[in-house]
Amino acid sequence: MSNRDLRGRAVADEILAGVAAEVEALKKTSWSPKLMSITVGDVTAVDVYVRNQRRIAERIGIVFEERNFPENVGQQELLAAIRAMNVDPTVTGIIIQRPVPRHISVKALQIAVHPLKDVEGMHPTSIGNIVYNELDLAPCTAMASVEMLKRTNLELKGLEVVVVGHSEIVGKPIAFLLMAEGATVTVCHHMTRNLQIHTRRADAVFVAVGRPRLLTGEMVKPGAAIIDIGINEVDGPDGRKIVVGDVDYDSCVEHAGWITPVPGGVGPVTVSVLMRNTMIAMRRLKAHYEAEFGAGDL
Ligand code: NAP
Repeated sequence: MSNRDLRGRAVADEILAGVAAEVEALKKTSWSPKLMSITVGDVTAVDVYVRNQRRIAERIGIVFEERNFPENVGQQELLAAIRAMNVDPTVTGIIIQRPVPRHISVKALQIAVHPLKDVEGMHPTSIGNIVYNELDLAPCTAMASVEMLKRTNLELKGLEVVVVGHSEIVGKPIAFLLMAEGATVTVCHHMTRNLQIHTRRADAVFVAVGRPRLLTGEMVKPGAAIIDIGINEVDGPDGRKIVVGDVDYDSCVEHAGWITPVPGGVGPVTVSVLMRNTMIAMRRLKAHYEAEFGAGDL
């Protein structure tokens, strides 16, 4: 642990306090947020994440309901279930937990979720909104990562930022969110010829690759902000499994101005952004119903 650590807990608590206040205020109306979590097949890999989402949702007054479908469920059956949730006025947000079995297209499921209930920010409409600089609802991890950079109080306009990894769920939305803030963004991936040429000149580096300790100290400019998004399980010194990020913390911490530890950095903020997205989606849903049927409660 270092005084350069950018820890996520306080950031998450602050976001959750805002959401909790909004849920409380809603009690005067007939509206209340309800998240529907969809898992398919064996849930062991996601169980800890889902339980954490449930715990946090319930703590701040968001109803959290789980639907688990059997491993051999068909794509059409899942799509039909999502469509039913789309038209159920008591469901205000839908999360598709990954991974899903190989015969299911997660992309098709994400597209089936109505954009007004897309709390993950993964529907093409939500991603398109970011491209058009509407930044309030974005993919949770990407948004959480950018929140962490904002906590450094670095001026984002003109900041040289390198994003390592260009997945649809993390790297690309981070790049769009930062471009909208005025940063100068370089995106690197597995075909980038010399990664460290880019990372060494960056004021801030985001790493979302899934390769343990990919970014090492000599690849970082002194004083840079390092946002580590990776979550990797590796063998610890005593042979037991430990979780590490994509950043080699020990060699980077001496060079960094700020660094997000793993665990304890971006992770807790991601869940709080999911809760904030739930409220944003619900506000949009409410505005939609009011525009359609007139103001007042359902
Ligand atoms: P992903 O879909 O596998 O994408 C990985 C990205 O890294 C791809 O764009 C890939 O580029 C790029 N890449 C692969 N090897 C590279 C290399 N040697 N140098 C530079 N780039 C390279 O993974 P993801 O879903 O974005 O997740 C990335 C990491 O974040 C994982 O560890 C995941 O567990 C973690 N994660 C954390 C959270 C959180 O809440 N903290 C949430 C989601 C994910 P190509 O496509 O060109 O190969």
